[in-house]
Amino acid sequence: MSFKALSPTFSVAPQLTEADVAEAAKMGFRSIVSNRPDGEEMGQPTAADISSVAKRNGLAFAHVPVVAGKITSDDANAMREALAHLPRPILAFCRSGTRSATLWALADSDAKDPAAAVETAKRAGYDLSSIMPALERRAKATRQTTYDILIVGGGSAGISTAASLRKRNRKISIAVIDPAETHYYQPGWTLVGAGVFSPEQTRHSEASVIPNGVEWIQAAVTDFLPEQNQVQLADGRVVKYHVLVAAPGIKLAWDAIPGLAEALGSNGVTSNYRYDLAPYTYRLVREFRRGRALFTQPPMPIKCAGAPQKAMYLSCDIWSDARVLQNIDVEFHNAGAVLFGVPAYVPALESYIKRYGIDLRLESKLVAVDGQKKIATLERKTTNGSVERIEQSFDLLHAVPPQVAPEFVARSVLAGPSGFIEVDPATLQHVRYQNVFALGDVAGTSNAKTAAAARKQAPVVAVNALAVLEGKRPAADYNGYGSCPLTVERGKIVLAEFGYGGKLLPSFPTWLIDGTRPSRTAWFLKERLLPPIYWRGMLKGREWMVHPHLIEKPA
Ligand code: FAD
Repeated sequence: MSFKALSPTFSVAPQLTEADVAEAAKMGFRSIVSNRPDGEEMGQPTAADISSVAKRNGLAFAHVPVVAGKITSDDANAMREALAHLPRPILAFCRSGTRSATLWALADSDAKDPAAAVETAKRAGYDLSSIMPALERRAKATRQTTYDILIVGGGSAGISTAASLRKRNRKISIAVIDPAETHYYQPGWTLVGAGVFSPEQTRHSEASVIPNGVEWIQAAVTDFLPEQNQVQLADGRVVKYHVLVAAPGIKLAWDAIPGLAEALGSNGVTSNYRYDLAPYTYRLVREFRRGRALFTQPPMPIKCAGAPQKAMYLSCDIWSDARVLQNIDVEFHNAGAVLFGVPAYVPALESYIKRYGIDLRLESKLVAVDGQKKIATLERKTTNGSVERIEQSFDLLHAVPPQVAPEFVARSVLAGPSGFIEVDPATLQHVRYQNVFALGDVAGTSNAKTAAAARKQAPVVAVNALAVLEGKRPAADYNGYGSCPLTVERGKIVLAEFGYGGKLLPSFPTWLIDGTRPSRTAWFLKERLLPPIYWRGMLKGREWMVHPHLIEKPA
């Protein structure tokens, strides 16, 4: 059997036998693709047959069956997806090899000159001249998908940036890539967990938040390819850009705590870090009358560093009102060495720890959960510096998972040593790729990972991305602002607002809101004002109180 090479990593062949597959493995192929539907002719091995032979020979296998003469663009996309994921070199076959060659040309048409692809196939003995118009159409469509600005992630940061860009320039092409159907206002989940908001108040369809004039590509990015100014999608497509804005958020590593993922949602185990579980938190808290309640906080970084303790204070407030708090042992296991990272807010928080009778355990980390037995395993530092493991029974556990950079980010060339994207902390421009920016939770900056930070960062990135698009230098800078409204009771908030280095950056005069003290006005802000500011302001490019600060030009 002769295999015809169409590129250094892709060859085609007529129907393979078992011996041909073994031969392919010996020649160094790493994957087989069958483009034949099963049962086309008598005696034809099935896809399952070839798949098991491939497996025996250590080869990957994909079945992308197409009908001769009826290849559709969906077929080409399916082939593209297979080619994107299979180890190379790849050997594809059909009855004669023509369908495999056709799919190869169509699947990868963005990377090929149509005439050259037809010529290559001709030299290998396949006449693809009839698909020339289709190849040209696909190549043209791909050329059009080089966006001026491409945003990865349509969460708080990505959508705000898209809206801020549109406010400044309506002529450029912008696309947001995000596979999600739903956009969440995650800061609302703390209040869902305390019965103040309904879950529905914290969600809208993703389609409804994409700004007018911005294209939504509903797909997941699997790779950043900044050398080629493109990103790779899970469905095999690539999307090109002039400037990239990366905002795919942070990954909740539920599986990093053995037993936690399985335990969530029953046996008193919950977390406000999931939309579907925040209502369960409220149900548990409302019905809880006596026993031990554990609240845990993992090591930094996490999004909204105050959220683990916010859940605890609001629960205690509910129990206090129900006059059952005295029957409940509340423990706060915080992996950190301090109650809150910025000292100015600690006294106010400590007063609530005291008031609710909370047993505060610092440097104590949740490492395993047995939901059935209702036992949490915790690791804590002892006074002599060693680490001891303890098992603690519970009746209610509010757990917050460790958080890491999304996997495709951490293994990309954009990542710094932490796995997050390595950007300049002021301009949010990538330190190695000048036409790349990152903001929101994925940015490897030291600010508090909050929607409040994204609100401030988005206009800065919009200004800077547009400057780079015009060949200029970044013009705006970000001071590290982030905010954490610590809900210490229903009706009062300690409003932590700070920037890089823990510098206090209050938005309001002290007579209106003194962030270091519990404040009713701050609660009003969180409950009544911030949701509309989010949906109708931030996501619409209205930069209320977050107008970007411009870098002073050297004299
Ligand atoms: P996200 O809003 O999480 O959006 C990331 C987006 O990227 C998602 O839409 C996702 O679908 C998409 N994405 C992921 N992977 C891919 C991929 N491979 N390809 C394409 N797209 C992808 N902040 C505050 O300011 N105040 C608060 O009080 C507050 N409280 C909080 C309470 C809780 C319980 C939680 C969970 C968070 C809280 N936050 C708070 C934090 C805030 O929600 C986040 O910091 C903010 O949402 C970060 O925005 P982001 O756009 O970076 O990430």
